[in-house]
Amino acid sequence: MKWIRVALALVLAACSPSSPPAREVAMKERPKVECVGCDTPALAPEALPASEAEWKKKLTPEQFYILRQKGTEASYTGKYLHHQGDGFYACAGCGQKLYDSKTKYDSCGWPSFWDAIPGTVERHRDMEATCTRCGGHLGHIFDDGPPPTGKRH
Ligand SMILES: [Zn+2]
Repeated sequence: MKWIRVALALVLAACSPSSPPAREVAMKERPKVECVGCDTPALAPEALPASEAEWKKKLTPEQFYILRQKGTEASYTGKYLHHQGDGFYACAGCGQKLYDSKTKYDSCGWPSFWDAIPGTVERHRDMEATCTRCGGHLGHIFDDGPPPTGKRH
């Protein structure tokens, strides 16, 4: 009976999961310039995390700190600061598209926009800006921006 066991082991080895084809890996690593932050799939409101603990699981520590604890990304460090690609900037929390690259301009140490996509960003009394879909903290909206809005997001 010994030879049967050997044959079985060979079949199992042949069926073990192989590594993904090289083509798939290359697709994943290709940078997405058409939609910054769109690696986050757009979530329906009912699919959003219901608690801060769930948000913590979904986001990276840095994203959680900024979006949920109103932290601020250190200036001049953001990887999209000098990003020049055409397209949209999406919320890292829920995937909602927030900014069109056509409204992006160079101002300070953070990516700046003079307008948001209508209905996606709410400005609060203390000038804090939040995502209208998930409530994530996006930064602040100041009144020293360029025309046509005079706003700096
Ligand atoms: Zn959001």
